[in-house]
Amino acid sequence: MDKQGEGVRVTRKQARERIEELVEQINYHGYRYYVLDDPEISDAQYDAMVRELVELEEQFPDLRRPDSPTQRVGAPPVEEFGTVEHEVPMLSLDNAFNEQELLDFDERLRRQVELESDEDIRYVCELKIDGLAVNLRYERGVFVLGSTRGDGYTGENVTENLRTVQSIPLTLRGEMPGALEVRGEVFLPWSEFERINREREANEEPPFANPRNAAAGSLRQLDSRITASRRLDMFCYGTGVVTDTELTSHTQELELIERLGFKVNPHTRAVASISEAVEYCAEWSERREELDYEVDGVVVKADSMELQQRAGATSHGPRWAIAFKFPAEQAETVIKDIEIQVGRTGALTPRAVMEPVFVDGSTVSHATLHNEDEIRRKDVRIGDHVIIRKAGEVIPEVVRSLPEKRTGSERAFEMPSECPVCGTPVVRAEGEAVARCPNLNCPAQKLRLLEHWAGRQAMDIDGLGPAVAEQLLDRGLVDTPADLYELTREQVADLERMAEKSADNLINAIEASKSRGLAPLIFALGILHVGRTVAARLAEAYPSLEALAAAPSEELEAVPDIGPKIAQSLRKYFDRPESKELIARLQALGVQTERSEEAVGGSELEGVSFVFSGKLEQMTREEAEELVEQLGGRATSSVSGNTDYVVAGPGAGSKLEKARQLGIQVLSEDEFLRMVREAGG
Ligand code: NAD
Repeated sequence: MDKQGEGVRVTRKQARERIEELVEQINYHGYRYYVLDDPEISDAQYDAMVRELVELEEQFPDLRRPDSPTQRVGAPPVEEFGTVEHEVPMLSLDNAFNEQELLDFDERLRRQVELESDEDIRYVCELKIDGLAVNLRYERGVFVLGSTRGDGYTGENVTENLRTVQSIPLTLRGEMPGALEVRGEVFLPWSEFERINREREANEEPPFANPRNAAAGSLRQLDSRITASRRLDMFCYGTGVVTDTELTSHTQELELIERLGFKVNPHTRAVASISEAVEYCAEWSERREELDYEVDGVVVKADSMELQQRAGATSHGPRWAIAFKFPAEQAETVIKDIEIQVGRTGALTPRAVMEPVFVDGSTVSHATLHNEDEIRRKDVRIGDHVIIRKAGEVIPEVVRSLPEKRTGSERAFEMPSECPVCGTPVVRAEGEAVARCPNLNCPAQKLRLLEHWAGRQAMDIDGLGPAVAEQLLDRGLVDTPADLYELTREQVADLERMAEKSADNLINAIEASKSRGLAPLIFALGILHVGRTVAARLAEAYPSLEALAAAPSEELEAVPDIGPKIAQSLRKYFDRPESKELIARLQALGVQTERSEEAVGGSELEGVSFVFSGKLEQMTREEAEELVEQLGGRATSSVSGNTDYVVAGPGAGSKLEKARQLGIQVLSEDEFLRMVREAGG
């Protein structure tokens, strides 16, 4: 390795491994972002991975995989909407992250189109609105088809939903006898984004991470009434197919679409050279917060259509345009207090309460501080000025404190010696970073346990979110998870903000959870150090919860993946009288505590999830799904990182493609049936 060199050199072998890793990660996060509208990481983190991949591929061009995400755009359309082929592809854009990269782009373009070095290229600068790109098709002046970008070549048909967007004209304001396609960005203003998230929180739905995902989630609805209830807006910035007019510049194109009744962003500016474009980018990096919508950068486009044609495009984006990305945001604020949250296993987590501050798209007033050691290491004190940033888009974290701004009135944080919720003295086991409240009756732990019990990976009780769980505990209706199985419909219907139908649904979901199977049940108990994998191992090793509860430590340690620490934690849990009582009651109330009959002799399908795509020939999709569920598996409708198998028949489309992207194993119908037979079905 060349330590003196400019960058870090990697060997071919290292590059190959890293490329594999990056492709897998980028595909996974792209899927969460483009298909599920539910990202797990920030755009800056995603962009950094893409950038690293681009650099490695440049260094080792032969290692570039044909399916590399750097060669593609977005994600394939979701089947349910019906698909639309784009006559003119809808590509993405290359990125520039600083001034130098903008200058390099200009240089490259100049070389491609063989321009004299003293000749400036005229550009149009547009704000890069963070929404989603759509194509609107008009025939004889009437709006006939609207689609998302999809993978650039095929998008989703969202015509009906786009009709509900007020700023999209349903008929053009000028003569256009042939076909015209107008392109632009559908987005949600901040105010509307915040309103929708408040509504979602009230309904116990997870809030959208940012306006882009909210806009995409609102537009990609199968029910257009939902889209209509969200006030989406649209700025247009280009065209696809144009049959009636010859356009010679992008400026002309924008004038045309504005004349025909579309909204063009008022801050768009034509400039005479790249240095003026650089100034525009610097200006809007500062001014972006004036706007009522999120912009994540500036798009710089060569104005001349003739030049655009000469430059052409790659499979990823045009060579005549670039997206300048604003730097990822950090923000400065003051820590007003450090409070303690008590988790399911009693872990005490310190959390900073801050002066509210706007960072990376939303106002935040809390940041995680992880644990006592972390606070000490970062030397964070109450009253300190600190720099925070968004980690994984939603949870902010404290990056560092600014000791130079201290006035002397700051206070060091002391971990409380008693649980702030129940007052029990806390314990911190030797070698552990976490302090815990050991009181199993601590109300905070009870609440978190109920939430965990209802979680998707555990007993999967839809409708039992934090607000419902809290009311059940507060009203004394539930004390331990076993009490859930004695709730009546009337008790549930009496809870606040609980409609009749939701009460029925909740009761049904609780009933259905009785037969989730052994592994989810073990996980649901919330035993310290027992995650999903450990729970699955235990369910393979023991036929029932009772057998597991009676297993001695040494025997537990012989189970794969289980070491002394977990074995000890299990023993401690099962030796408690409360646990014994809980298990006995669950059993008495009809919760299945044994491995299911079918699964004995092969519990392979327990907890395994399947997605069916395309046509099955030997049974209907419903029958196949039922079969999976009878065997303790799960059949879901969309492919995600949690899907184990995709069963693909003739006509399988985007789900199959997604499975390939995510590296999920694909089975034919015959292979699926063989698996079912082996599992005892
Ligand atoms: P992009 O957002 O970088 O650029 C292309 C898009 O810009 C176009 O498709 C269009 O939708 C939009 N745009 C806005 N204003 C425009 C204008 N005036 N002219 C032309 N286009 C304009 O590229 P992308 O392929 O859509 O996606 C990449 C973005 O998505 C990045 O910001 C990335 O960080 C984010 N992303 C995030 C995650 C995550 O997990 N957080 C995952 C995937 C992608």
